[in-house]
Amino acid sequence: MQYEEILNKRWDVVIVGGGPGGMGAALYTARADLSTLIIEKQFVGGLIALTHEVENYPAVDFASGMELTQKMEAQVKKFGTEILYKDVQKVERVPDSHDFFLNLSDGKQIRARSLVIACGSAPRRLPAAGEEEYYGRGVSYCATCDGAFFRDKDIVVVGGGESAFQEGLFLTQFGKSVTLVHRRDAFRATELAKRRARSKPNWTEKTNYTVEEIYGNGTVNGVKLKHTETGEVEDFRADGVFGFIGYEPASHFAAHLIDTDEEGYIVVDGHMRTTCKGIWAAGDIIKGSLKQMVISAGNGATAAIDIREYLSEEED
Ligand SMILES: Cc1cc2nc3c(=O)[nH]c(=O)nc-3n(C[C@H](O)[C@H](O)[C@H](O)COP(=O)(O)OP(=O)(O)OC[C@H]3O[C@@H](n4cnc5c(N)ncnc54)[C@H](O)[C@@H]3O)c2cc1C
Repeated sequence: MQYEEILNKRWDVVIVGGGPGGMGAALYTARADLSTLIIEKQFVGGLIALTHEVENYPAVDFASGMELTQKMEAQVKKFGTEILYKDVQKVERVPDSHDFFLNLSDGKQIRARSLVIACGSAPRRLPAAGEEEYYGRGVSYCATCDGAFFRDKDIVVVGGGESAFQEGLFLTQFGKSVTLVHRRDAFRATELAKRRARSKPNWTEKTNYTVEEIYGNGTVNGVKLKHTETGEVEDFRADGVFGFIGYEPASHFAAHLIDTDEEGYIVVDGHMRTTCKGIWAAGDIIKGSLKQMVISAGNGATAAIDIREYLSEEED
């Protein structure tokens, strides 16, 4: 569909975010013959597209995030979903109507009868001096995307959760050394993830340290680590620094219409309805989400089924 046509249409359902939550919703609304538009600011698949192995989605024994993403995209398109690559910057009520206007980065507007917010969350950037300067020049938040650039190099992975261990394990196939730096000496990661990473000969851990500074000469060549108890600072050799220290919800563009918690995660009921009539939310962006693909897709389906009823009642 041409852009002009997309802009001129009053969509039954607009879904912001093309990750598993958005795809789950689109599958159900498009199959129910509701005109469905996904607006995605980067690439479809969301966070799952960045991972190299998924083995906990029903019926999928083992697949890369990219493979699953391609299948999801083909499936929603098969039922008529349109995908538009734009950044949604603000949502507003259309005056004297239940509809919404979505303001895009190019100044254009999309009109929707109902809205699903499935924007997930973005990786939290490392709070270290030099992070901004070396972002993309040694600092990364995606092992799948950037791991191969660090073949036979020294890699530092920051974080103590499942992602830090899983993605760190992936990086062991490239790096001469992979050192996990964590601010505590206890980890949130599962025993399985820890065991797998620790079985690699080039894996080491430095606990009770924070990364204070990332430095280099055009590209990264070291970090300053600070011991959380003694305050001692040491230089540590690193060519690559990968951060896995959590995520920040991307709900800002609708925060004036819906209730969120103090971090920005969206409050929903059991049908995935937000506190604003006509807006649903799904996936990692919702308050209390367990941040797994199967859950995001399920939330999307739940929202879609409720939207079907909402739109049919609205028509009566
Ligand atoms: C490294 C890693 C490994 C993982 N491994 C697994 C695993 O093995 N199994 C599993 O079940 N889960 C895994 N997860 C978690 C899983 O990826 C997430 O739970 C899932 O992707 C969440 O889906 P979502 O649709 O809610 O959000 P996301 O996947 O985050 O998708 C949100 C989308 O919204 C878009 N967006 C945001 N704001 C806007 C805007 N304003 N306008 C337009 N688009 C916008 C983003 O670009 C993004 O594409 C992993 C996550 C990571 C980071």
